[in-house]
Parts: sequence; structure tokens; C-alpha cells
Amino acid sequence: MGAKMIQRVLVANRGEIAIRIFHTLREMGIATVAVFTDEDEAAFHARSADQAYHVGNYLDIESLVDAARMTHADAVHPGYGFLAENAEFAKAVAEAGLILIGPREGTIRSMGDKLEAKQIMKNAGVPTLPTWERAPPADQFPILVKAVGGGGGKGMRRVETPDELDHALKAAARESGKAFGDDRVFIEKYIEKPRHVEIQILGDSHGSYVHLFERECSIQRRHQKIIEETPSPAIDPEKREAMGAAAVAAARAVGYLGAGTVEFILDRAGDFCFLEMNTRLQVEHPVTEWTTGTDLVREQIRIANGDRISFTQEDLRQTGHSIECRIYAEDPENEFRPATGSVEVYRPPDGPGIRLDSGIEEGSVIGFQYDPLLAKLITWGPDRDASIARMVRALHDFVLLGVRNNIDFLCRVVSSPAFRAGDIDTQFLERHSEFSEPEPERIPVEALVAASVGTSGGRSSAGTPTSPTFADVWQTRESWRNT
Ligand code: ADP
Repeated sequence: MGAKMIQRVLVANRGEIAIRIFHTLREMGIATVAVFTDEDEAAFHARSADQAYHVGNYLDIESLVDAARMTHADAVHPGYGFLAENAEFAKAVAEAGLILIGPREGTIRSMGDKLEAKQIMKNAGVPTLPTWERAPPADQFPILVKAVGGGGGKGMRRVETPDELDHALKAAARESGKAFGDDRVFIEKYIEKPRHVEIQILGDSHGSYVHLFERECSIQRRHQKIIEETPSPAIDPEKREAMGAAAVAAARAVGYLGAGTVEFILDRAGDFCFLEMNTRLQVEHPVTEWTTGTDLVREQIRIANGDRISFTQEDLRQTGHSIECRIYAEDPENEFRPATGSVEVYRPPDGPGIRLDSGIEEGSVIGFQYDPLLAKLITWGPDRDASIARMVRALHDFVLLGVRNNIDFLCRVVSSPAFRAGDIDTQFLERHSEFSEPEPERIPVEALVAASVGTSGGRSSAGTPTSPTFADVWQTRESWRNT
């Protein structure tokens, strides 16, 4: 880096992303500050930094800025979620004389408004979907009602016929008012069986913009991503170049600073349209890092420090194939309800081609307060088949007991012939409900925990001579997992 302005960074986040950011900061010789709430006093991320500072909550702007001042941090990294796309936070950080590791306040504000973002992209020549602010012609149905300030798939409603529109507009406005404090909604053409393909971009203060190719994020549940991969099985070199150029045009149009993502929807004919721009690091950034040999957090910090992106577009290549699976504390057999509990046994997989970005350890207590993402499992292989084979192997080897989770579910998805064939779209999981059906011969969780920690039986199996030993558990890989 050039003149070193950033010497200590406060990470205004928790869990796996806080820890992932600390890793790069430490490699760059930058001091690290964690923040934690009452519930997170014993959390892994709070013990992973040089210092940890108590805050009221992760959305309390004043308390976070105070924490940065008190710990003498020069910069703040917001991670994703929480305040990562909050223009008021960006403003407060700048006003306190601190550097925000992220884009400018104005960019966050305009990209946070889906209508304004679409208009800017349209003016920049980026393809956008037909949009209406009131009832469209009947031949345009089905349509999608969306929240102007939306995120995380909230406030979105598919409408089949004009007579259902009024009700849907009102319901979506109510929902988004509650979730985002902004009840404005709009109407967008609904694309049947589309793919979600997004482009990673970087922009620096010297006017350079690059894209780091695509991520295919079509495996979703309720409009939220679960499995991501790159390269996309649906993109050929020409399409990749066209989408990359559109994403760079989008970044240039807003003078983008830092790491961002331009999301596109790809229809069955292979035409792409701008969906939205995320002004932050994405959950799924590791697959891009692995296939391009880059560290996106490092680039974010360099850019925030006023340095140049450390490579040019011509330097960038995609090598091999990478997949990410999001490991959630949830119960796939029970409508994916969030799960709570204490992590009794945690033995994540390792070996060639495996990366784990984890926010937990044995003993971690998982409550209802926060996002149920526990860890991200990422694999790399020279091609898609090899990357999938590694993911299947790694999910089989993943031991996580004490909290219900989606590991078995993910394993069924990535091992399925349909996924292997690359025949995926955003409705893939709706069509394949069999992945979340109960396992026929499941060993009770208590017995598994007891067996793996070497005691003789838990609540449901206490005293029974048939309690499995850890070796038994190990032998029955298909059915022992706590899901
Ligand atoms: P959010 O900001 O709430 O995440 P997005 O606009 O990014 O909303 O859309 C999230 C997901 O919803 C997309 O990945 C896609 O699966 C689906 N989606 C969004 N817009 C459309 C559309 N016009 N037609 C079909 N599906 C859509």
C-alpha cells in the first residue's frame, strides 16, 4: 500500500464475515477491533481480534462510531448486512473523521433506491426490465411487485392477473414499510424460470474499474441465495464479456468506489437485465476470490486507503471452478425454521480444494437474534464436476452436532443429477421439494451427541444398550447428521 493511513480497523459486524475480514487485516499488518453485544459476549468473533468493544447492538450507529473513536481505529469495515448499505452510517463515519471501507454515501443512497438505480443504469445503457409505477397492460402479467427500498427478498410479490394487483400492492407496501421504513413499491415484468447471475466489480479513486467475472446464484429459497458458483454453467465467453462490460458501465456511471456487485436476471433466451447493485462485499465473494486468485477484502482496504486496485482487467483470468454452500442453523424438514442450540461437536472438513469461512466453534450458542448463517463451505476444482465432487465429499465429512442445520439438505442438492447437469434456475428448489424430506432412519440427536462426546446416551437414549458409539455413528454417514 501507499502512505499507510489505515492502521487499525473496527469491523462493525459479527460471525463469519467479521472473522474473514480480520484474517486479511492481520495478513496486511493492520490492527483489528471487534464489537460485540450482550448476547455475543462469548462469541468467537469477539475473541478473534486484537481488541473487542461492547456496543448496544450492531445497528446502533452512534455506539459503533464511539467504539471506533475509543479504540483509535482509523477505518470501519461494515461487512454485509446490518449497516453495510446504510447511507446514514456512511455519513456518520465520515463526519467522525473515519474512513468507511465501502462506497461513498451518495452511491449507497442511490443504489439503495431500486427505482433510482434502474434509471441510472438505463441512462448508462445497461439493459433493465420493463417497470411500471401503476397497473401495467393485462398482457404484461404475471408481474412482480417490489419494494423500492427492498432487500433480502422482502416485500416482493408475484401477481398473476390484474384483479389481484391492488391487494398485492397494498400488502407489499405494508410489508416493506415495516421492514425498511419505506413503503414505496413498484411493478416489474416477471421473468419465468430465470437465472440470477451477478458480476463482481471494483472501482478505485484513480478512476479504474474492473470486473471479476460472474457468480451464478440461482439456487435460492424465497429469493435468498443458498448455493453459489463460478463460472456459471449458462454463460459463454461472449455473454461473460457483455455482462462484464455492462457491470463496468454501471460502476462507472456512479463513480463506484470499492467492491460492489451488479446483479442481473438472465431469461431462458439468455438475455440479461439489471436487477440491482449491492454496495458491499457479498456473502458469496469467496468463489470469485478462489477462481481469480484475488483477495477482495484486501482490495477494499487498498481502495479505501487511496491506493490503486492491484491488478488490471487484462491481468484477470478465471481458473477452475468454485462452489459455495451456506451452512444455516435451520430445520429443512420443518419449513426451514431457524434452529437454536449449542454447538456440541464441530468437526468441519479439510483437505485439498476446501475453504471454510466459519463463525462458530464448539460451545458456540446459537440464538434467534441474528442471521442463522453459521459458516460457508467453499470448494475449488479444475472443472465443475471436480468442484461438485469435492463439495459432496466435504459435506459428507462435515460434523456439526447440537444445532439443527441444512448440511444434509445441501448434500442432496449438490449430489442430484439435475444440479450436476447445471440445469438450474431460481425456481429449482421449489420444483425439488424431495431434498427437504425427512430421512427414514434417523438416529436421535441426543444419541449422536452422546456418542460423539463419549458419554453413554443422552435424554432420549439414556440407559438403552443400543446407544450408538462414535464409531457406529461414523459408519452411518447418511443418517447420523443433526438435520
Ligand atoms: P432483494 O434486493 O430483495 O434481494 P432482488 O431484486 O435482488 O431483491 O431479487 C432477489 C431475487 O428475486 C432474484 O435473485 C430473483 O430470484 C428474484 N427476482 C427479482 N426480480 C425478478 C423478476 N423481475 N422476475 C423473476 N424473478 C425475480
